[in-house]
Order: sequence, then C-alpha cells, then structure tokens
Amino acid sequence: MDKKKLLHDLILIAVCLFVSLALWAVVALSKEKGELVVVTVNGEEYARYPLSEDREEIIVSENGKNVLVIKDGYADMTDATCPDGLCVRQHRINESGESLVCLPNKVTVTVVGGDGVDIIG
Ligand SMILES: [Zn+2]
Repeated sequence: MDKKKLLHDLILIAVCLFVSLALWAVVALSKEKGELVVVTVNGEEYARYPLSEDREEIIVSENGKNVLVIKDGYADMTDATCPDGLCVRQHRINESGESLVCLPNKVTVTVVGGDGVDIIG
C-alpha cells in the first residue's frame, strides 16, 4: 500500500466519522418534547390529545381496547386487551417522534410537536 492510498483512506474515514457525528447531532437536537399525541387505529387518525393535560382515554377499536393515560406530560399505555401485552410494557413517551404501538389492536400513539405536524399522509 503506497502512502497516497493510505492518506486517501484516512480522509475517507475522517469524512465518515464527521458525517455520522453530524447526523447524530441532528437527531439529538431534533429530539424535543412533543406537545400532543396522535392516536391511530388501523392506520387512520382516531384522536389527538395534548400532553399538557392529564387524562385517561379508552381507545376502542374493532380489535379490542387500549387504555391510554396522559400524566405529567407523558403518554403511557396502561392496559390493553391484546394477547401479547407488549404495548403495556413499553415505556411512557414524551419526545417528538416516539410512539407506542399495539400491533394486535392496530393502535399507535405517536408524540408530535405542536406545530401542526401531520404524521398521516
Ligand atoms: Zn397491545
């Protein structure tokens, strides 16, 4: 291996590192507290609730029921009729882009920012 190629490789590695660092920074910075949750059932919007108000909602679908609790600015699935119960075991969420998913009931709860972001369509 001649020196020129080595230098070229080093530059390539440096560029790759820089790009991945930059991407990481963008992701880290864009992680912000969401302002509302959008609930979808079967891929269609079911409801949206602000994270600022404590509430408990029962999401009723043809597949079953999911209990969504919003408390202290976090959204959490506390109960569900689905057989696997995976959604109940997921951690509560409050950052834009995070979501709770119940595959058997086809229910998703996604945190979005307050600037009218529409995640559907
Ligand atoms: Zn579930």
